[in-house]
Amino acid sequence: MIDEFIIFERGGSVLWRRSFVVLRGDPIATLIRDVLLEERASDTELITSSYGVRWALANEFHVVVAVVYQHLLPPAYAPDLLQLTRDAFVSQFAAPLAAGELDETDFSTFTTVFDGLLRDAEHLSLSRAHEARNKRAPKSKPDPQTKVPEEEEEIKHVETQPEIEIQSAEDVVKRNREAFIRRRTAGAKKKTKSSAAQDSSGDHPKRGKVLRPPNKNTADEMAGLDHSANTAQGAGEDVSLARFRQQFIEAAPNSNYDVIDASSEDDDAEPNQGTQAAGKKSRTLDGSVFNFFRGLAGLRSLTRTDLDPALAQFREALISKNVAQDIADRLIESVGASLEGKQMETMTSVSTTVRSALDEALTRILTPRQSTDILADIAAKKGSGRPYVITYCGVNGVGKSTSLAKTCYYLLNHGHKVMIAACDTFRAGAVEQLRTHVRCLGKGVELFDRGYGKDAAAVANDAIRKAKELGYDVVLVDTAGRMQDNEPLMRALAKLVEVNRPDRLFFVGEALVGNDAVDQLKKFNAALSDNQTSARPRLIDGIVLTKFDTIDDKVGAAVSMVYTTGQPIVFVGVGQTYMDLRKMNTKALVRALLR
Ligand code: GDP
Repeated sequence: MIDEFIIFERGGSVLWRRSFVVLRGDPIATLIRDVLLEERASDTELITSSYGVRWALANEFHVVVAVVYQHLLPPAYAPDLLQLTRDAFVSQFAAPLAAGELDETDFSTFTTVFDGLLRDAEHLSLSRAHEARNKRAPKSKPDPQTKVPEEEEEIKHVETQPEIEIQSAEDVVKRNREAFIRRRTAGAKKKTKSSAAQDSSGDHPKRGKVLRPPNKNTADEMAGLDHSANTAQGAGEDVSLARFRQQFIEAAPNSNYDVIDASSEDDDAEPNQGTQAAGKKSRTLDGSVFNFFRGLAGLRSLTRTDLDPALAQFREALISKNVAQDIADRLIESVGASLEGKQMETMTSVSTTVRSALDEALTRILTPRQSTDILADIAAKKGSGRPYVITYCGVNGVGKSTSLAKTCYYLLNHGHKVMIAACDTFRAGAVEQLRTHVRCLGKGVELFDRGYGKDAAAVANDAIRKAKELGYDVVLVDTAGRMQDNEPLMRALAKLVEVNRPDRLFFVGEALVGNDAVDQLKKFNAALSDNQTSARPRLIDGIVLTKFDTIDDKVGAAVSMVYTTGQPIVFVGVGQTYMDLRKMNTKALVRALLR
């Protein structure tokens, strides 16, 4: 039933292991990468490929105990065995673990102890199953001669297990993709000859059914939207150009925005007045929480009961900074789990340890695991024969087009030639908005558009081809805003992404949103995964966080978004001019969260 039991030190060295089969892949590496390093230690189970993994921490010795099994057949005794094994191991080897004498210690002697524990756990589990069975069938007289086969008991256990909650985002995506491919295969089999013939005639399954919102533009309206050949409209365009110049170029950019200003990467400057004043409104972590921890001084090691009230206050404080509730819960649980059992000697060490545990956890979550240097990526792509393509997606009004124009300004300033692909072919005025941006931005940028009502994937494809022919370095693809639950529009986005394989797919989200950001991101990623046939569907791989200038110190959406996707915040919008685009400064952000 169990595939492997392993005990390792958080530093990485394996202290003891008992393997019952040869594992495919490395579920323990996944446990370390996706759970322990991602501050998800408070989760109870990890499902990775066909395995389930459970773990227990012995924090006082920085030791992790883990059990691996087939996730469809989770042994009922695994949680008990895990705790028993941890306690037995820690009590047998307390002295060498405390002294750090790992190399000098022979941990293999633990195997005999473990085998005894395993036998006990199996017996206990079987007798519990018998008891439960007898309780369920009190009327029928048990036949003492009839022995219940072990497998039967095990199957019963599986049936009564609560549905396994998939914790890893990768697994959710994988599951959705498999379901989608199954649906597609089943759908293909069911198709009649005539519908198949219809399909082969074009991109859309049903010709004439174009993905458009209910208030779609008629042909006349579309013609009316083509302002370029119309003198009166031309005058209108000049008015909007003047307005754009005023808003995006002439207005003063947001200066000194230290929370995310890249230039303050390693400074300890005080925040600007606005941020400081707002900070007072939020519950401070230093005051109530740290006073509580001071009260724990003198304890030898922290227990869960000691920690719980303070963890609750940390949770409140994070939520008051706009961290999504569910994520604040998981983060705090994880920090609690990592502190339980830690030795606390002095007053100072209590508060310092707690603060630094949360600081470390937040820093680890927010530190990008892959490059966010777009300029370096563009340079690396040069000479490949294809421009660097960035696609922007998100719900309506979050600042997609503005962020795209800001990025364009940034790229032009670094000497790149940029083509903007107008792939929001739904919203009236979307193309004109981009055209005015292009006029405002000046030399080095061109707009590619095909008007309204066209297939966005095809427009992007044509734009990339054209940019390649004309030697543009970068293509920025604007897409229609869409709600995360709008299936037809999400399918159209997935198609655009699958057909055009952009180098980066940016999700644009407002810093104002709390729990909603998590919902948007999860559903965007799930829909992207569901609606691509590729074995490796493209998902969101970067976040642009807008309107940061409007949130005072409530910077928690950044944590929620990164925690949900595991993807970095590449840019932050801090105002309405082209200059108001910054790179994320993790250190400053964590400082703002803990203030
Ligand atoms: P889209 O529908 O997602 O393309 O959104 P737009 O780009 O049209 O932006 C919607 C509104 O948000 C506009 O009024 C922008 O000026 C504003 N906006 C965009 N980014 C920021 C930002 O970083 N700060 C502030 N204060 N406003 C922004």
